[in-house]
Amino acid sequence: MNLIFEQSTQNHQCSILPPCDVPKVELPTKRQENLNLPELSENEISRHYTQLAENVHGVNNGFYPLGSCTMKYNPKIDEEVASFKGFTNIHPLQDRKTVQGVLEAISLANDYLCEITGMDKMTFQPAAGAHGEFSGLLLIKAYHKSRNDEKRHKIIVPDSAHGTNPASASMVNYDVISVPSSSDGCVDIEALKAVVAKEGENIAGLMLTNPNTVGIFDKNILEITKLIHDVGGLCYYDGANLNAVMGWARPGDMGFDVVHLNLHKTFATPHGGGGPGSGPIGCKAFLQEFLPGYQVVQKDDYFDLVRYEKSYGMVKEFYGHFLVVLKALAYIMTLGKEGISEASANAVLNANYMKQELSDTFNMAYDGICMHEFVMSLEQLKHDYNVSALDVAKAMLDYGIHPPTMYFPLIVHEALMVEPTETEGKAQMDEAIKIYKEIYKTAIENPDIMHEMPLNTVVRRLDEVLAARKPILRYQAE
Ligand SMILES: *Cc1c(COP(=O)(O)O)cnc(C)c1O
Repeated sequence: MNLIFEQSTQNHQCSILPPCDVPKVELPTKRQENLNLPELSENEISRHYTQLAENVHGVNNGFYPLGSCTMKYNPKIDEEVASFKGFTNIHPLQDRKTVQGVLEAISLANDYLCEITGMDKMTFQPAAGAHGEFSGLLLIKAYHKSRNDEKRHKIIVPDSAHGTNPASASMVNYDVISVPSSSDGCVDIEALKAVVAKEGENIAGLMLTNPNTVGIFDKNILEITKLIHDVGGLCYYDGANLNAVMGWARPGDMGFDVVHLNLHKTFATPHGGGGPGSGPIGCKAFLQEFLPGYQVVQKDDYFDLVRYEKSYGMVKEFYGHFLVVLKALAYIMTLGKEGISEASANAVLNANYMKQELSDTFNMAYDGICMHEFVMSLEQLKHDYNVSALDVAKAMLDYGIHPPTMYFPLIVHEALMVEPTETEGKAQMDEAIKIYKEIYKTAIENPDIMHEMPLNTVVRRLDEVLAARKPILRYQAE
């Protein structure tokens, strides 16, 4: 497919301007240089963008079970609410009296998300999940500092953690201690006890996601958070994937002090694709005075903004990505209390259905009931037929479905991590199950072809290392 610049032909244009009715002005010479803008007819432009859209796989095209990323269908009504003029045509420095509805919406979103997470206060400043982790860890740091307890510089992170966890910890200058998982996928509690006994007062806190990235709810969670609290550390919950537990279990009740949410996974904003996200953090009351940014407070019928005296600063301008927060609020209010818990129940049900149906063909990394996602290991297939998880994932593209997450979590070899989400129906999952099994059969009967797939996509196998190391981000005009 050609770029729009390559399709351009000179003096080909689609706008017919009205006759000029203002005096002509000479542009500065610099501005007179050839801008090299593409010149096309309206029809060509329309076809170009339609073709681009057709080459992208999204939830609107088909199955997209990207584990740990919750690529689910997001109701259009939430987009509509976020596009109301009263929300979009405003300025952050506008007189507060004129944006009472906006402040009320932020306040409501705060209340609902606190209720869902078991926290006391949220800030909507962080722009995404990893940014939330960074901001939440700064909160933990501010707390220890306020108590003159600054020698704590270590963060415990299980080896099943999302890669952003250790990365965020080192961004705030903490050292990371990794603790192993046991064979059931939970934190190895004896190993954790040993670390806590050894490091004690050096421990700033623990970062954990529950259910973890292998799709297992850690049954020892209360013991884990207590171990950390007993030595004066705080507990951070990576709530990127609340899809499995919202309405059923709350990080606040599990003993966590700080949590971030990915509104752009669970709460009606698509994840990926480059649009704005939102990674609000919530905390228990004893931490709220350190929160970054402004908080909405209500006095009688009036909503105001305050900056806490001990706030550690700002992590983003103004109030974060407000329209994303609004979509989350609309989503929560349309589903209601029952709908929220039903959504996660169905997410868990769907994952278990697929896991069960596939377990006669694929090796599951962990036995038993999973939460919103499950991990398969293709190590055996690789060993016996030299067909890797990558080969299987690439083959799926030929069937018009998006591959699951590959090679993550790192502790499972040849991993494929499947998260169907609650928005897929049984028929769609049955179709995907059939395709997965067909690919497995091909892998055994004709392993060579598997290295060639996909055969029918616009581009075949790309050099992913080169794309990551030397990305071409701008078109170089001649
Ligand atoms: C997606 C995800 C993150 C990071 O979120 P971003 O918005 O991509 O920065 C962190 N933790 C877990 C478990 C995730 O799945």
